[in-house]
Amino acid sequence: MNRLKTTAPITWCPGCGNFEIQNSLEAVLEDLQKEGVPFKKIILVGGIGNHAKIVDYFHINSFSALHGRAIPAAEAIKLADPDTKVICFVGDGDTYAEGLEHLIFAAKRNVDITVVVHNNRTYALATGQFTPTSQKSFKGSTMPYGAKEDPFNPLELMLVSGATYIARGYPVRSQHFRKLLKEAIVHKGFSIIDVLQVCVTYNNLYTIYNKNLEEIEVSDPASFDEALKVIRSWNYDTGERPIAIGKFFEADRPSYEENYSRFKAEKGDRNKMMKDALDRLF
Ligand code: SF4
Ligand SMILES: [Mg+2]
Repeated sequence: MNRLKTTAPITWCPGCGNFEIQNSLEAVLEDLQKEGVPFKKIILVGGIGNHAKIVDYFHINSFSALHGRAIPAAEAIKLADPDTKVICFVGDGDTYAEGLEHLIFAAKRNVDITVVVHNNRTYALATGQFTPTSQKSFKGSTMPYGAKEDPFNPLELMLVSGATYIARGYPVRSQHFRKLLKEAIVHKGFSIIDVLQVCVTYNNLYTIYNKNLEEIEVSDPASFDEALKVIRSWNYDTGERPIAIGKFFEADRPSYEENYSRFKAEKGDRNKMMKDALDRLF
C-alpha cells in the first residue's frame, strides 16, 4: 500500500494535468521527509474545484475551505502553528477571481504559506466557464461566441503585491516542476506557483504549451525588474511565442509570523494584558 496516497477513488478525467501535480506532491513530500520535515508537520488546504480533490488523495492532515477562502484558512493555520508547512491548492477561478483579495493580502503580508494554483484557465467543475486567465478566444458555457476580454497576468499582480517567491510550472515537465514545487515549499515567506494545469475536457492547451514552453533561469532572482520583464513576456494569450516557465523571483523579507512573534515578545503575556485591561475597566 502506498503510504502517502489514499484509496479514495480519483474522479479526474484521464489526461487531466492534476495527476502529475499529485505525483509531484508525493515525490516532494517524500523528499522533504528524508530531509527532516515529517508528514505530520505538513498541512494541505484545498479550495473549491476539481483541483481541490487532491487533499482527499493524501494521508496528510488537510482542510477543505469555502470557494476562494483557502488562503485565509491557511494563514490562520500558519499563525496558530508556525512550525507547520502549509500548502494551499487552489484553482484559477477559485483564487484569481473569487478569492483574489485574499491572495493579494497574503502576498502583501508575506505569510509563510505556499500557494499552488491549478491554472487550467477555466472553471472546470462548473463545466467550462471562463476565468480571469482564459484566453480571449475561449468558448465556454457562459461565452458561447468566445470571450471578448483579455486575460490578466496573475504573476504580475503577485510581484507588485509583495510575494517573495514566484514561479510558473508545467507538470508535464515533471522534474522541472518538482524542483519548483520543492523550492516554493521550502521558501520562507509567501510563495506562489502558477501551474499550467491542462483541462483536457474544457480547455485543452497541451499542443500550444508543448510547442511554446521554454524553461528559463533569471540571472538575478531578487531583481524586481528582471522578474517583471520575464513575467510580461507572456500575457496568457495563445499567441505563438515562448511561454516562460521557471522561478521568476525570490526575495528574503521577514514573514508575517516573524513580525508577529516579535510584536508578541515585545508586548509580553497577552492574557495578562487582557486581565490588566479588564481590571482597569471594572
Ligand atoms: S474537467 Fe478538466 S480539470 Fe476537471 S478533472 Fe476533467 S480534465 Fe481535469
Ligand atoms: Mg480552473
